[in-house]
Amino acid sequence: MRLTHEILRLRTKHPFIIARGGSADFPTVWVRVTDKDGVEGWGEAAPSRYYAETPETVVAALGAYAPVLADADPFAIEETEAALLTALKGNPSTRAAISTALHDLVGKKLGVPVWKLWGLSPALAPRTSFTIGIASDDELRRRIAEAAQYPILKIKLGTDRDEQIIRVVREAAPDKVIRVDANTAWTPKRALQMIPLLAKLGVEFVEQPLPADDLRGLKFVRDRSALPIIADESCLVAADVPRLAGVVDGINLKLAKCGSLAEALRIIRVARAHQLRVMCGCMVESSIGITAASHFASLLDDADLDGAALLSNDPFTGATIDAGVIRLADGPGFGLSRRAG
Ligand code: MG
Repeated sequence: MRLTHEILRLRTKHPFIIARGGSADFPTVWVRVTDKDGVEGWGEAAPSRYYAETPETVVAALGAYAPVLADADPFAIEETEAALLTALKGNPSTRAAISTALHDLVGKKLGVPVWKLWGLSPALAPRTSFTIGIASDDELRRRIAEAAQYPILKIKLGTDRDEQIIRVVREAAPDKVIRVDANTAWTPKRALQMIPLLAKLGVEFVEQPLPADDLRGLKFVRDRSALPIIADESCLVAADVPRLAGVVDGINLKLAKCGSLAEALRIIRVARAHQLRVMCGCMVESSIGITAASHFASLLDDADLDGAALLSNDPFTGATIDAGVIRLADGPGFGLSRRAG
């Protein structure tokens, strides 16, 4: 199989700001795997500096992974994914892109959608949330009005005015389900200050209140929290899950963190075995990455698959979101197309 790539210049409709900063420009890498019959599978790497990846590292890693794919059997995905990891460790979003492309390719070769290969039932997927980044009060109100179609909002916190943000949000969205994500910004003391207010305002859960490696702190907060605590930055791969059991209430997996669709499914199974709540999130990414995760969304308790919905220039079509309901595209593989124009 042949591996080709193209850097995509994705832009968000609004600057996407979280506790550690933000931007409106999110380059990702479109990865294509073509087999000897000319069948093409698509994937996307959404690199995050926080996880030590940039478009440049993705391109360099693709160079290291190309020889693995050269002689690989397109159907032997488990073997290929293991060989990628042996060829070059790290680079999870790059490996996830190849994994996505291989699943798309196999689906196309067999003429079936990937969810069907997995034996899943897309209608069981939870509704997705829509994320509102850090912004001024007026801007928050505007964005909440713009997000009218979404029944679940995820609000980014981790500022010195979190109380004000959450009050403004609740006032502007009195009836919506609201979740918050502090993206590692709080101390245990700050978390325990915030959580009673969040609970009073009917917030559903709190994502990653503390630094990724502060598992003792997470357990301390969780033991005193009225709201469920979900680990995101603390949970990258399935091997991270067992030590989070009893520490948090759930985990948020992402393809760009775990490195493959097989690993995503493994995280879900391991988290279930430990009776953890299972959520899947995303980076800012196009409909390629979002559609891949949408195909296993029926295995989740909570979905946060709004990465493409945040964009002003999504180059692709695939899964869509209708009032929070994830609708998969028809067609084999992931049913992806390039948007016209
Ligand atoms: Mg998060």
